[in-house]
Amino acid sequence: MIGQHEELIVRELELGTGAAIEVAVDQRGLRAGMQIWFGDLGPRNGPVAEMRPHGLKSHKVQLSFGNFSGAVINQIKEATHEDRQLARALVGSMESNVKIEVPGQSLEDWSVNDGNFRMDAQIRHETRSDTELMIEKTCRDVVVPMMGAMAELIGYDVIDEDETEDEPPVEGAFRPSVVNRRERNPRNRLLCIRLHGEICSACGLDPYERYGENGKIIEVHHLEPLSSLASPKPYDPVTDLVPLCPNCHRVAHSRRPLPWSISEVRSMLGMTND
Ligand SMILES: [Zn+2]
Ligand SMILES: [Zn+2]
Repeated sequence: MIGQHEELIVRELELGTGAAIEVAVDQRGLRAGMQIWFGDLGPRNGPVAEMRPHGLKSHKVQLSFGNFSGAVINQIKEATHEDRQLARALVGSMESNVKIEVPGQSLEDWSVNDGNFRMDAQIRHETRSDTELMIEKTCRDVVVPMMGAMAELIGYDVIDEDETEDEPPVEGAFRPSVVNRRERNPRNRLLCIRLHGEICSACGLDPYERYGENGKIIEVHHLEPLSSLASPKPYDPVTDLVPLCPNCHRVAHSRRPLPWSISEVRSMLGMTND
């Protein structure tokens, strides 16, 4: 029964999206489902994901907007190009065992235009494992990127804009604030790790293998050379973000303003680039 797993679902989703999540068991239909929404907005004023078991090893997740979502949808329409790209990349990062569709729109350039917006997903678990495991995977692989995408479009309250004490301002006129912001953005981190895994792209360190469960140390590095920020190219979180361990990250930024490339760091380590 999905209804017995409220706590697990809230925990997974809050961890994954960085937003406050609330849920309620939904008894409509043959099998109980779970309704999931942002605590700040409530179920009527924003997006609601409905997660429901389907067959023995499948879940369906449908995202729609509550009846009083006008204000939030107007806010979404103001989202920057970068926010939209991030939202689409989050949805696009779902694995091949997830069928996802935005009715009437393409997955490459969907947008939320009005309250009728819907997103439908179905995840098929390879083996029928216990309910708890399947729910956890559905949360991680479908609901987190889906709700994360919505959070991205709606916008988070900015809390750590000037948290730069461990990285003193660069001398001179040029300060790579755009890059810093991207590297520090927790959702960029989520996306980077979803797409590339938590292994250092330069030295190959797998921190969880080395340090056990305390290995949550991977940092996000933004690849776009600073020099090109003068004439910005479209930001692509899929290709522009790479995971680096703290050592390699520091080495990469030891050259300023243009960081050493990943292959240059690998060469310093005597590793080949092929
Ligand atoms: Zn490394
Ligand atoms: Zn970096």
